[in-house]
Amino acid sequence: MKKVLIAGGGLAGLAAAYDLTQAGCAVELFEAREILGGKVSAWKDADGDWIESGLHVFFGCYEELFTLMRAVGADTYLRWKAPVCHFTLPGGVTYDIVSWRGMPFPLHLLPNLVTANQFSLPEKLAYGRALLPVLFGDGRHADAQDDISYAEWHRRQGLGDNLLGGMLLPQTLALKFLPPDELSAQVVLNVFRLFLRRDDGFQVAFLEGSPEECLTQPLVRAIERAGGRIQVKAKVKRIELDAAGQVRGFVVNDTLHTGDAYLCALPVHQMNRLIPEVWRAQYPYFADLRHFVGVPVMNVQLWLDGRLTERDNLLFGGAGLTPVYADMRLTTPRYAPASGNTLLEAVVAPARDLFHLSDAEIIAVVWERMKAYYPTVAPRLNVVKSSVVRIPQSVYHPKPGIERYRPAQVSPIANFFLAGGFTRGHRFFDSMEGATASGRLAAKAILCYLSRNAP
Ligand SMILES: Cc1cc2nc3c(=O)[nH]c(=O)nc-3n(C[C@H](O)[C@H](O)[C@H](O)COP(=O)(O)OP(=O)(O)OC[C@H]3O[C@@H](n4cnc5c(N)ncnc54)[C@H](O)[C@@H]3O)c2cc1C
Repeated sequence: MKKVLIAGGGLAGLAAAYDLTQAGCAVELFEAREILGGKVSAWKDADGDWIESGLHVFFGCYEELFTLMRAVGADTYLRWKAPVCHFTLPGGVTYDIVSWRGMPFPLHLLPNLVTANQFSLPEKLAYGRALLPVLFGDGRHADAQDDISYAEWHRRQGLGDNLLGGMLLPQTLALKFLPPDELSAQVVLNVFRLFLRRDDGFQVAFLEGSPEECLTQPLVRAIERAGGRIQVKAKVKRIELDAAGQVRGFVVNDTLHTGDAYLCALPVHQMNRLIPEVWRAQYPYFADLRHFVGVPVMNVQLWLDGRLTERDNLLFGGAGLTPVYADMRLTTPRYAPASGNTLLEAVVAPARDLFHLSDAEIIAVVWERMKAYYPTVAPRLNVVKSSVVRIPQSVYHPKPGIERYRPAQVSPIANFFLAGGFTRGHRFFDSMEGATASGRLAAKAILCYLSRNAP
């Protein structure tokens, strides 16, 4: 039986481990932390409340992740919400972007001519016209925009700042935790292509409970049932090379582990630390990884002594800072506090200028923003408990010009492979879907390598 060693127990590593065990390989997966799931991980605090690394939703246009969830029985935990993006703005102003379920593309977007009343009809028509080459055709227009930022593309189309600040800012902060002038237009436009061409494209699902119980553990059980071995608190510290420059083994903590093929499914900044200097000097494939950095982001949870909203969906913060948030009491039934009050969870972005603040200061800033969005209700409520999770380098920064450096899963080293949202070959960038797709692509490539090198 061929043996594959995997570094990293996020979705990319777990998806690869699942496919490889199903294909009959002996798999050993090493995860540095005490818990699995990586950026989707969740754990219980001293009170028994779940703390999440990040607010996660599943989009209707995902495919690989849903296939995997069905295979391990985790799809039953998905809780689908109405196909509406609800934007909240200071002063209690709101607007919606909706999809008309059951109507063919592009008719499902028509209701937005009358909703989304934050924008004038001429603005909406101009935006629709600018998006024509993005939404119709083979996607070449979007792919060709990697050298400019989304903000630059927007201005070149003659589109105004009202749309950029009022709609695109919260959307890009929600997607990649950065404003539109720091993101490649290619990435933003390709995401629009995925979200807008299907009537369920931007419809979201939450999980019934924590990602640990509803996603990671079903995967782990399926991997272990098929004979895979998963070790936590097992950091891959070094990649040991043989005389030919191929991988001889992973040094995990202080022990050398060997196999027939090796997969690194790590965040790219951590991957960079592991790549042997000799590979970097010899192969642009590895040298190019230096272009990638992770985006800083925070996730906050606020337990309130009353109810803030009755909206059971992902909510958009139109003024940035909390670009997406949700009342988990409604969206995620197993999180509902016994008090029946709101458990608010919010992504904080852009976050780089907030890292020097204390947790209490961050919570205060976030709560002030909520008071602006809910000026009649929020001032009557108090935050009774809170948590802040800081991720200094999260998803990779898809800055203009970086697309050409994204590596394939197959590396120049025959027995060494990469996975993670930053790798190429899938359409979903750094997301749960992108990570899963990359892991499955890596598994396929490894199986192909192993079959070519069968004794
Ligand atoms: C706040 C936030 C909100 C998000 N919201 C969404 C969302 O709503 N929808 C969506 O689709 N995506 C969302 N994402 C993105 C999504 O979480 C990631 O794209 C995806 O989980 C990445 O998976 P991965 O396996 O590639 O990497 P990771 O999840 O980073 O997994 C890598 C693993 O490798 C481990 N590791 C690192 N170094 C070593 C080592 N030396 N040895 C062994 N193990 C090591 C890490 O501990 C980690 O567990 C969000 C991300 C964040 C941060």
